[in-house]
Amino acid sequence: MTTQKLPDHLHQDTLAVRTGIERSQYGENSEALYLTSSFIQPDAETARKRFANEEDGYTYTRMGNPTVTGMEQRLAALEGTDAAIATSSGMAAIFLLGMGTLKTGDHVVCSQSVFGSTLRLFAGEFGKFGVSTTFVSQTDIAQWKAAIQPNTKLLFAETPTNPLTDICDIAALASVAHESGVLLAVDNCFCTPVLQRPVALGADFVIHSGTKFLDGQGRVMAGAICCSHQYANETFGSVHRTVGMVLSPFNAWVVTKGMETLSIRMKAQSDNALALATWLQTCPEVARVYYPGLASHPQHDLAMRQQSGLGGAVVSFDVPSTDAAQARRRAFHVIDRTQVCSITSNLGDTKTTITHPSTTSHGRLTEDQRQAAGIGQGLIRMAVGLENIEDIKTDLMRGLHNVGALQ
Ligand SMILES: *Cc1c(COP(=O)(O)O)cnc(C)c1O
Repeated sequence: MTTQKLPDHLHQDTLAVRTGIERSQYGENSEALYLTSSFIQPDAETARKRFANEEDGYTYTRMGNPTVTGMEQRLAALEGTDAAIATSSGMAAIFLLGMGTLKTGDHVVCSQSVFGSTLRLFAGEFGKFGVSTTFVSQTDIAQWKAAIQPNTKLLFAETPTNPLTDICDIAALASVAHESGVLLAVDNCFCTPVLQRPVALGADFVIHSGTKFLDGQGRVMAGAICCSHQYANETFGSVHRTVGMVLSPFNAWVVTKGMETLSIRMKAQSDNALALATWLQTCPEVARVYYPGLASHPQHDLAMRQQSGLGGAVVSFDVPSTDAAQARRRAFHVIDRTQVCSITSNLGDTKTTITHPSTTSHGRLTEDQRQAAGIGQGLIRMAVGLENIEDIKTDLMRGLHNVGALQ
């Protein structure tokens, strides 16, 4: 196998199609897919050295696989980190983050608006092992600072949030963390490195759910932690290989190919989302629109600075109502009248998805928790894809045009 030598200082778009390629003796142009659980050793002595980590070389796919390595190198190049560790899902990446950096008695500060399973992981599963977590406001830096205790090891942020697209200031959080000797992890699933590079803003770890925009066509589950070589080797590598939450080579290959079109997809889907959000704001049948690309968004300026001037592909809106029951009927009406959008809570797909957060992704919260989070029964979330946006507007109008008449 030969690794392609690339010149220095290539642009991100070039790295997305050219990094992480090890070619076999056949000289294939597209990345090869190594679907194998183990690797034949040339002789017993080489096997001994490889198992003892005295010599590089693949042995067993849980320990490493060339297709997975290629995906890791490509993602790391896009994020601007030394290394990436690929995991079987985004949640596995967050679990690995905790397993690597935390021990019994440690404390975490986390935004209260993170992905639902992330919330349950920190509040529930890690709690069983004596790790405690304080949940704070997404946007109030003073709350994050005040929540830090002598035993705090990690700040965990995700920006923008799902579904309301609240933004936190990554650079400000990084200073708060580092003043106290605490590490900062940022879940960059919504923006991807095309819009936002948390490590350049001071974060120590970047978390990805490759299931979303990195794959980009809704095919496979995947995840990753992007970090320095030191953390990859000393903090996460051994846990990862021992526990076995590794990414399958097939899924790694799909994500590798997905990253080649990531930049054009993120830009086109952000443009589509901005067009949709701008139009929704003018609809009398819509009470409120949540989108960082709109000047009406409370953190619009920060979002534009932090996200390369783009709002991302997720847009949420409220249908007007007089009470919660009516709001739910009206939101269901709009969702159910669509003929193009997919009714599903996944996001990051080229196909536009539409969902009712308060009965799906946020359905396990109590009504009080949802009210506190601002996720009402009239809220609809769209993850905008690559269709012609006029068709998506027409699709929403099928239900929106008479939603006000629905009691
Ligand atoms: C989907 C998602 C995750 C979890 O990823 P999986 O691949 O589903 O495990 C984590 N964070 C965010 C922001 C997500 O949207």
